[in-house]
Amino acid sequence: MSSHLAARTLAGVALPAREGAWDVTLADGAVATISPAAGEPSGLLALPAFHEPHTHADRAFASMPRPPRSLEDAILMSDALRETSTSEQVQLRAATLFGRAVEHGAVSLRTHVDHSPMDGGRRDRRAVRAAADQLGSAATVEIVAFATRELDPVLPESRAALATALEDGADVLGAFVALSADPAASLDALLDLALATGALVDVHLDEHGDPAASWLEHLACATIARGLEGRVTAGHCCALATLDETRASRVAAKVAAAGITVIALPALNLFLQDRGAGTPRRRGLTLVHELLAAGVPVRFGADNVRDPFYPYGDADPLETAWLAGLGAHVDDQATLLAGVCGGRSSIEPGDRHPLVLVPATSLTDALSRRPGDRRVVRLEAPR
Ligand SMILES: [Zn+2]
Repeated sequence: MSSHLAARTLAGVALPAREGAWDVTLADGAVATISPAAGEPSGLLALPAFHEPHTHADRAFASMPRPPRSLEDAILMSDALRETSTSEQVQLRAATLFGRAVEHGAVSLRTHVDHSPMDGGRRDRRAVRAAADQLGSAATVEIVAFATRELDPVLPESRAALATALEDGADVLGAFVALSADPAASLDALLDLALATGALVDVHLDEHGDPAASWLEHLACATIARGLEGRVTAGHCCALATLDETRASRVAAKVAAAGITVIALPALNLFLQDRGAGTPRRRGLTLVHELLAAGVPVRFGADNVRDPFYPYGDADPLETAWLAGLGAHVDDQATLLAGVCGGRSSIEPGDRHPLVLVPATSLTDALSRRPGDRRVVRLEAPR
């Protein structure tokens, strides 16, 4: 639910990074003033509306007979799901995922859509775009053409199909290169295509715990070599947490120099990394603190929601932030908020970004209970 307001006061709200209750006036499409509340606290927390940076709308909410046994097992289950799904099913899954995210207060999302040998992902991309169009002005959706292992960007036909995808509804180039014959060459080929087309890049990278197969440093060097600084995002980067301290510091510095944004996916990583018969020995999350200290923007995404990779979830950024706090020991509330609010961590006069009102007395309360009945407040200027 959202409201369009020309001028209004949000009375007695709690705000991030401020103690107590505040009156926030909205005027001319922006936050106008913030002052100590004249009346009683409202019991509402105002936050920047959420940005969900990493989902898989084409598979979400597909009912699966069992949880995956490993990442490889999940990939096989996902391939089978894709081959047996109809366009209508894909559109319904995407619409359900988008609807849940919007209900939770998201106003923008990025979703990967499998770019498969079947038809270069065309059918599913169109189904996801149709679901996105149904949202109207409630949220914007970016689509990543996500090259699966069968469409390695190193292959000319795959690059041609990816270029076509950009003309056919995809906004960003993506890939999963861990199972490529030569992951470095696959990354190079994807970045070359990004250079040629001007597209942004968002790759699934190092989603495993093998320090000998970490490609993050290569991605950073290849990004810098092509002048693509600030245009590349890397999701997962789990293997970074398995490198020795010296090498991890070197990689983090290069990632910062390359202007790469790293997305940690706490729910999926905690669920799927180091998965086996017994209890996991590794948490599976990337080095959130060390990347931040090096100057890398770190975001937190939902990733898979009730699909072959992950049986739970509801595309709730507050749940994702809570899991980041829990799994990666992120205590700093500004970092948690920036992770799920597209880099925003406070509300200040002059802000034009939408707000979300959460029935909670503080961010800690909101993260603990993740209450419903949230309301997005848009700040359009009067016409
Ligand atoms: Zn993903």
